[in-house]
Amino acid sequence: MITGKCLKCHGKINHHENLVYVKCVECGVREKAQITCQEGHYYCNACASKKVLNRLYEVFPTLDGQNPSDISEKLFIECGISGNSPHPLTTAAFLVAYKNLTQKITDEDVLEGISKSTQIPGGWCGYYGNCGSAVGLGVAFAIINKSTPMHDKERSIANLVTAEGLKVVAHQGGPRCCTGSVRGVLEVGIKLAKEYLGVEFPQKNIDLKRCWQSKHNHDCKKKRCAYYGDKEAI
Ligand SMILES: [Zn+2]
Ligand SMILES: [Zn+2]
Repeated sequence: MITGKCLKCHGKINHHENLVYVKCVECGVREKAQITCQEGHYYCNACASKKVLNRLYEVFPTLDGQNPSDISEKLFIECGISGNSPHPLTTAAFLVAYKNLTQKITDEDVLEGISKSTQIPGGWCGYYGNCGSAVGLGVAFAIINKSTPMHDKERSIANLVTAEGLKVVAHQGGPRCCTGSVRGVLEVGIKLAKEYLGVEFPQKNIDLKRCWQSKHNHDCKKKRCAYYGDKEAI
């Protein structure tokens, strides 16, 4: 739903100002939510991102890149975007790059990060002031540093990187573009990795200034976006 179309009828998505009673068209769960399509179709978080997540689980162990931005673009293209999938995608991209570069974490750790970030609902940015990609970066640092609520420095670092990611998303302006948020947040993560993880990722190969996502996003900010360009990169 996150690219602006309903998974069932391809209709436009409504972002309601208040919570409404809904029933997931796939699994039937009843709950309150703020995002439906114009026909009233609703997908719960799990059902909205299921297909993309299944693909993410298949694809991430096969990637050998060492730059989080390169990996995230590959994951977007290979797995798609749906529901809250940009949140676990952010975590996966950062952790896979870190794993490939340092060999200090395993696929199991990446899976743990994806699992945690799938719990961050869609629309968190506008409704809760807490972009899920920025939180997803905090999750990645928490996994790497094995942070718990009882830790000192590790807990501070996880919160600091989330905060810096949120600042970038705030300065990008709206309406939301999940691809843009993931890009901005990961660029922050790459910078902060030097200071907080002692890791320098290699330069990215992809040219983020030539966005492939623009034509798929009806709400694209175009020239207001740092990643907007006239030609496609991929
Ligand atoms: Zn619909
Ligand atoms: Zn459901």
